[in-house]
Amino acid sequence: MLRLVTSLASPAGPRARLTAFIFHRVLPEPDPLQPELPDVAGFEQSLDWIGAQFRVLDPRLACERLVAGGLPARAAILTFDDGYRDNAELVAPILHRRGWPAAFFVATGFLEGRVMFNDRIIEALRATRAAEIVPGAIGLDAVPALPLDGLPARREAIARLIAAIKHLPASRRETTVARLEDCLGAAATRSPMMDAAQVAGLHAAGMTLGGHTRHHPILATLEPAQAHAEIAGGFDDLRAISGEAPALFAYPNGRFGSDWQVAHMSMVRRAGFTHAFSTDPGAADRRSPALALPRFTPWDRSRLRFQARAWGNLLTRPLAA
Ligand SMILES: [Zn+2]
Repeated sequence: MLRLVTSLASPAGPRARLTAFIFHRVLPEPDPLQPELPDVAGFEQSLDWIGAQFRVLDPRLACERLVAGGLPARAAILTFDDGYRDNAELVAPILHRRGWPAAFFVATGFLEGRVMFNDRIIEALRATRAAEIVPGAIGLDAVPALPLDGLPARREAIARLIAAIKHLPASRRETTVARLEDCLGAAATRSPMMDAAQVAGLHAAGMTLGGHTRHHPILATLEPAQAHAEIAGGFDDLRAISGEAPALFAYPNGRFGSDWQVAHMSMVRRAGFTHAFSTDPGAADRRSPALALPRFTPWDRSRLRFQARAWGNLLTRPLAA
C-alpha cells in the first residue's frame, strides 16, 4: 500500500519525480545542545523508513536519468552536506551494509582542521562558564542579551546567534565569531570535519563527491568574482582529491533568493558541474532546471509523520524551468 501510493505520486518514466533527502551530521550519541541531529539509531530508523517507501539510487546516474525520462518509480537519492567526519566514520559503513550509494557535498576549505562558524558558536556555548552573552558587545546590536543558564537557554542562544551571524558578509562573519569566542573564553578544540584522506576514501568506496564551495559562504553576500572563486575552488579541490571531476553541486544554506541567485547557476555550470541542488522543498521532475533541483530534510521522528511529509514533498511543485 505504502509503495503503491508512493508509486502513484512518483511514477517511472517521463513523469518520474526524484526525491533528494538532505542529511548533515549523524552523531554517535544524542547531543542535548543539538537535538535536531540524529544519532546512529535515529538515522538507521530514517533509512528503514526511506527504504520502505523509496528506491535509493546512485545520485549522479539518477540526475542523468531524470532528464532522460528514465527513472524508476519511487526514485530517491541520499545527500550529506558539509563534510563532517561522522560521514566517513559512521554513515559510510551503515550505507555500505545496505548497499546504498549517496552523495557527499564537501566544503573543501575545512578539510585540514578548520571548523565551520556554526560549530564554533555551538562549541563555544557548550564550553563557556559565562552566565550570559551580550551580543551588542560583539557588534550584533539587534540581538538582546542572552542568558546561558541551563540547556534550553543555551539552545536558544545558539539559534539566535547562528541566525544573526549566518548572513553577515564573509569576513565579518569570521571576526564576529572570533570576538564571540573571546567574550565567552571558550572555543572549539577539535574539528568535526573530515580530512582529505577520508574524502578520498568515500570516493574509493563508490560514493559520489559533490561541490559545496570552499568555505561555505552565503553566495548571495559575495561579489561575483569571489562567489565564482568559491564554487570553482571547491570543484578543483575535489578533483585533486579524487582524481575525478565532480558533477553535482549543492548551494550552501541552499535557499533560492536569500542564499543564492540566478547568476550563481551559470557560475556552477562554468566551474564544470552539471547538476545543482537547493534546499527548497519539493521533488524534481523532468522539467526542473538541472542547476536548481529541490531537496527535502527528513527530520520527523515518527514513521507516520515521516511518510506523510515525504508524500507532501512529492506534491510540492518545485521551481520550473
Ligand atoms: Zn552546507
